[in-house]
Amino acid sequence: MKNKSPLVVANWKLNGGTDLICASVSKFLRHNFKVNIGIAPPYVYLGDMANFLKNSSIMIGSQNISKFESGAFTGETSGQMLKEVGCNFCLIGHSERRQVFLENNASCQTKIARALEANLMPIICIGENEQQYELGLTKHILYKQLHESLQGQDLTGKELCIAYEPIWAIGSGKAASPESVQSIHAYIYEEICTIFDKETADKIRIIYGGSVNKKNAAELLAMPNIDGLLVGGASLDPEHFSEICELANKQAANATVQTNAEAVLA
Ligand code: PEP
Repeated sequence: MKNKSPLVVANWKLNGGTDLICASVSKFLRHNFKVNIGIAPPYVYLGDMANFLKNSSIMIGSQNISKFESGAFTGETSGQMLKEVGCNFCLIGHSERRQVFLENNASCQTKIARALEANLMPIICIGENEQQYELGLTKHILYKQLHESLQGQDLTGKELCIAYEPIWAIGSGKAASPESVQSIHAYIYEEICTIFDKETADKIRIIYGGSVNKKNAAELLAMPNIDGLLVGGASLDPEHFSEICELANKQAANATVQTNAEAVLA
């Protein structure tokens, strides 16, 4: 499954301002990361961030998208608008949106379609809560989230990413173990192979989020089924976040060396 270069995404949530933008932009413009990196600041900063980083490979994304295209929907922002200000991706169905703003699999399905129409890569967030985890319902929850939001999506010529984020791991300091994420990602992959054809499923990145930091990032990224990371709290410190990106860079470089060695030995 690991034929894609890692994707590391920062989710700033309702945090950050001009200071964090300046610090992040100056940090990231100085690096030449080979891996894919995305930053999702609050809406109001998207245009500025996209402009500052337009000559870099850093992608900019929103934390949400409207399920409507235009009209009398106060407070909403459409996919076309996000694309116009320079976004490359958008997060959809983050557990905080599901819990606080009552989003569900049906609204996620519409939002994914809107993002794809606007040529934004949807990063669809899925994951079980603590009680569901303890009751052994993880796969059941993921099955519903995947099938109800992805069924019927047309991915021809488009990119999509799935972020597995167990809710109990988000902001708790208790990341899931690399082995357990590995096995859950294998399950997610099996399911997306039943929703799309295998060729399409193979192109979908499955990344992990939940208390990722510079201490656990390398172990997580070393797992064959983990295609990248979604980072919340640790992404608010540009130094810390860039160390995580460095680890991903190193991991990708090692994987390339290994693939080349295998090709020579074949
Ligand atoms: C998140 O909310 O997407 C997240 C991964 O948060 P944290 O890294 O702080 O657990």
